[in-house]
Amino acid sequence: MTGSAFTSLFVVFVLAAVAWRIWLGVRQARHVQRHRDHVPPDFEALIPIEAHRKAADYTLDKQRLALAETVAIDAALLLFLTVGGGLAAIDALAARLFGEGTLRELATVYGVMAVGLVAGLPFDAWRTFVIEARHGFNRTTPGLFVADIVKGVALSLALGIPLLMIVFWFVRAAGSLWWLYTWGAWIAFTLLLVTVFPRWIAPLFNRFTPLEEGELRRRIENLLSRCGFRAEGLFVMDGSKRSSHGNAYFTGFGRTKRIVFFDTLMQRLTPAEIEAVLAHELGHFARGHIPRLLAVRFALALALLALLGWLYREPAFYQALGLNEPHIGAALAGFALLLPAFTFPFQPLASLIARKQEFEADAFAAANASATDLVSALAKLYRDNASTLTPDPLHSLVYDSHPPAVLRIDHLRRGREAPSI
Ligand SMILES: [Zn+2]
Repeated sequence: MTGSAFTSLFVVFVLAAVAWRIWLGVRQARHVQRHRDHVPPDFEALIPIEAHRKAADYTLDKQRLALAETVAIDAALLLFLTVGGGLAAIDALAARLFGEGTLRELATVYGVMAVGLVAGLPFDAWRTFVIEARHGFNRTTPGLFVADIVKGVALSLALGIPLLMIVFWFVRAAGSLWWLYTWGAWIAFTLLLVTVFPRWIAPLFNRFTPLEEGELRRRIENLLSRCGFRAEGLFVMDGSKRSSHGNAYFTGFGRTKRIVFFDTLMQRLTPAEIEAVLAHELGHFARGHIPRLLAVRFALALALLALLGWLYREPAFYQALGLNEPHIGAALAGFALLLPAFTFPFQPLASLIARKQEFEADAFAAANASATDLVSALAKLYRDNASTLTPDPLHSLVYDSHPPAVLRIDHLRRGREAPSI
């Protein structure tokens, strides 16, 4: 393949992905707008019309911002950085500042990341301080917003630089199979990260306090022993520091597993409802969703690294990006930029698998806690998070990792198992 053929192929894919996203976004906005004044029949007793309208307005606001972001970042910035010569310019600057070698490679990778970060900032700020604030969700102060960015960048340097140095070393020392060694390093790195995340990384951003003694703790401990599940601890996180959205999650791996509740969730749900939400999360563990997800990720990483190993030696790849000479820093940055344009057709498949797992976790919760409590917890979460009950079916099919509320609650009420797909 020649450089210009590669360029044309890439541009066609980027434009197709952007057109597809815009079309889906417009469909979603129209659908939500059309159903703004009617609560779906199953929810009439659970969600008042004002809450339903609020969810519609919130969804529409987010959708409009997403459309602007798609055009500005996923199309304009991406084309500028790749075929527009942006990456080549960053790389040339890195070479002028640092000559050849590791520093230049690192500067190219982080230079591209910095451009992406800065370009995305206005959108993040708008989302937090305009949209979230307008709908009463935002609790992030400007100081916290900046502190989060600074900590995020510091973390990405602290974790990313050692990993990149290892990759550069493999490229120089390990011959044409460097990408296979890189895969091994990537797996070790991911497992390490999952293990240290709850104890060392998450506390940089939030405070975690052990769950108090009382009815809730008793209920949860009962549930855990009923399901034969061991966790390292039960914690409450100060999610209210950033937003009033509520959630619960599991974190960690093996013996470092922790159960975390957002304080905002604790304020709104009854102990029985929290137990049902937790039983759903336990369902993900019991059905082996987490190791399976990791296995899929590792397999995908192997395929992508093999592709990168091939592109690294392919002159057309560098010509398409306007680069004069092959080198690993630019290859990594260019690959990371090009990749999403080619993976978007797989999104519906990933969403489909995720939704199937949600049904399985719901069925587990219904069997080990209470379906009725989970239904009322979900209805409260939909209401309080202003999540739309009436997504466009096609938009939902492509993007949603959770089944639409109507379908989910219908399954729980009828006590049906996950649909076989
Ligand atoms: Zn789930």
